[in-house]
Amino acid sequence: MFSSVKGFLLSFCLLSLSSFAFAKAQPILIQGAMTIETDVLIAKLENKKATTIGAWQFWEGEINGYPVVVSQTEVGYANAAAATTIAIERFKPMLIVNQGTAGGHDKALRRGDIVIAKESVNMGAYQVDYTEKGKGIHPTQWHRLDAPMRLRIDGKEVTFTHFASDNAMVEKALSLASTYPHGQVVSGVIGSADQWNREIDRINWLHETYNTAAEEMETAAVALVAKGYQVPFIGIRVLSNTDLHNEEFLPETATNCQNFVLNFVESVIADQK
Ligand code: SAH
Repeated sequence: MFSSVKGFLLSFCLLSLSSFAFAKAQPILIQGAMTIETDVLIAKLENKKATTIGAWQFWEGEINGYPVVVSQTEVGYANAAAATTIAIERFKPMLIVNQGTAGGHDKALRRGDIVIAKESVNMGAYQVDYTEKGKGIHPTQWHRLDAPMRLRIDGKEVTFTHFASDNAMVEKALSLASTYPHGQVVSGVIGSADQWNREIDRINWLHETYNTAAEEMETAAVALVAKGYQVPFIGIRVLSNTDLHNEEFLPETATNCQNFVLNFVESVIADQK
């Protein structure tokens, strides 16, 4: 009798210790800009609680018993940077996953394909040479401006032209390619700016200048903040549109991307146990 009570107490202690350890685990942060890019993720959260900080919304919950925070960043560079800074300060995530829709820059990619951001780049910062009135506008002559990508890391100033995603996370995402039924899953460069480009010559120029596979408005801003705090980061983007194949914006692609991201996050969680 005594020993079974002892055994019960011991297993009770071990159980509460392990759930205590899990409760203390740093969450995975998953971001999407728009409602169509976060709805599947939010629906998947167990024991969820919504929080608004400033203008930005977060949902804290669990997936398979592991803490996950879903963040709706809203659209664009400034929103993405703000939402990421708040989330890092408040939730101390162990990994940031930025995901959602994008437009194609590479002829080899079709709508529905997923690009794992091995790197992301700010493709919206330029310095322009002086020309006289009447001499025209020459975007292809503008110089790429890398200064906004300068950070102080470990006391040293570092200028980034690209931000690399966490290598092991990129490999893991690519290893799940065969589980995605809606297209290819490839790695590539994501270009971010507060722009939606539809001129084919400009898309081709951006592709040649920045080696971009796709464009959207948030990834490089999030990657910059993640790098500043040294939090591991990965970008995962679905082509929702590509003018290189006359394929217009299709909202269902955002659902498919979230389902792939859930697969990926469940695999990361499985590794934590
Ligand atoms: N069509 C949408 C507006 C999207 S705004 C609507 O009417 O509600 C742009 C958002 O979509 C950004 O969050 C951006 O990351 C993403 N996006 C998708 N395709 C894009 C493209 N071709 N260029 C720029 N951003 C794109």
